[in-house]
Amino acid sequence: TMACLTAIDASDPLNAFVHKTPDIALERARAADARIQSGDAPSMCGIPVGIKDVYCTKGVLSQAASNVLSGFRPEYESTVTQNLADAGSVMLGKLNMDEFAMGSSNEHSCYGRAVNPWRREGDETPLTPGGSSGGSAAAVAADLCLAATGTDTGGSIRQPAAFTGTVGIKPTYGRCSRWGVIAYASSLDQAGPMTKSVRDAAIMLGAMAGHDPKDSTSADIPVPDFEAMLTGDIRGKKIGIPREYRIEGLPSEIAAIWDQGTAMLKDAGAQIVDISLPHTKYALPAYYVVAPAEASSNLARYDGVRYGHRAKLGQGDGITEMYEKTRAEGFGYEVQRRVMIGTYVLSAGFYDAYYNRARKVRALIKRDFENVFAEGIDAILAPISPSAAFGLGEVAESDPVAMYLNDVFTVTLNLAGLPGVAVPVGLNAQGLPLGLQLIGRPWEEGDLLNHAYALE
Ligand code: GLN
Repeated sequence: TMACLTAIDASDPLNAFVHKTPDIALERARAADARIQSGDAPSMCGIPVGIKDVYCTKGVLSQAASNVLSGFRPEYESTVTQNLADAGSVMLGKLNMDEFAMGSSNEHSCYGRAVNPWRREGDETPLTPGGSSGGSAAAVAADLCLAATGTDTGGSIRQPAAFTGTVGIKPTYGRCSRWGVIAYASSLDQAGPMTKSVRDAAIMLGAMAGHDPKDSTSADIPVPDFEAMLTGDIRGKKIGIPREYRIEGLPSEIAAIWDQGTAMLKDAGAQIVDISLPHTKYALPAYYVVAPAEASSNLARYDGVRYGHRAKLGQGDGITEMYEKTRAEGFGYEVQRRVMIGTYVLSAGFYDAYYNRARKVRALIKRDFENVFAEGIDAILAPISPSAAFGLGEVAESDPVAMYLNDVFTVTLNLAGLPGVAVPVGLNAQGLPLGLQLIGRPWEEGDLLNHAYALE
């Protein structure tokens, strides 16, 4: 814990930790020492971790990187962070992210951008750590903490993991409680660990997961010992390679790493099967209807009365002006854009054309996955992002769709509620990490992590 706190103090250029909690860390570290001495050490006893700012942490600023929540110190602790504390882990502080987890580069944050500790060879251009869990990925990659929490609504654990050479798993929807996690799109949001290795991810997921009566979508399904399932033996397993993910213009370095990962699994004794997920091309547009729709509804609560920021009012301003000014000042432009899209697709005249159609597409995407798993596929291997980490500011802020296209491989499994794990597989010609994702059957994260273990 002391080593991490020292490293964090020297890490300002990364802008990963946005609130430090050294007092809490030292208190928990001392408690962990005592538990170890008494011979009663739980699974994460004394492990220093960072917490994404989207998790409510009691008495500690929790803003989801938004000015609208400035100064918000929850009176309660999220279930996942409570579970992590109960498992003996040590919270070092809160981590940068895109505002309300909307973004793929950590460039939309009230704290400013987070920076990737990696650089292209011979080139000092600062790169994005990915998003929205960019601070988490940067902190783990730069050894500021041993592990971090992320959340994944449409790729926000897996893409930052791929951009920083770290591991991250988005569990089955319902595996981890969403209680106390500031909502973006409730039917898609899932908490998950971001770590340095598959084994760490297995241990941390076990600590985070579990049924929670406070979240009605939390599943009452036992949490197995994920770590014990890591044998590395995947002989005879069937790995699906989905042909629809070989999109037009797929950069050669991504195709090459995908081939390399396929060969590694084959060498480990798996059987490689060409599969089809025919509705894949509709996933991105469906996601960018469903997610903003749910966001516009979730974010209605930030009204200047209940939380954080309230605008200064002029003479004669009433409650409507208070709402308008508070929301105009408090939300960044990307969040405002999503709220507007969401309100539009849910409005009376457009609901059937957009939201209802997206819901139907979502069902088809889910069925695609069910079909291949019913045919005996154990896991699906696919790219995570169409590129390695890109430069900060490189994807034009004036063109949000260019940023959304980054999520083309990741949003599918959120729409289907499936687990997906990101594993670093190699480096590109410029020395940047490239990762791949494995997609698994619902509730079979242990088996999925074992496939990832064989790929690591
Ligand atoms: N990049 C996607 C978005 O902006 C996914 C974000 C996430 O998973 N939280 O919506």
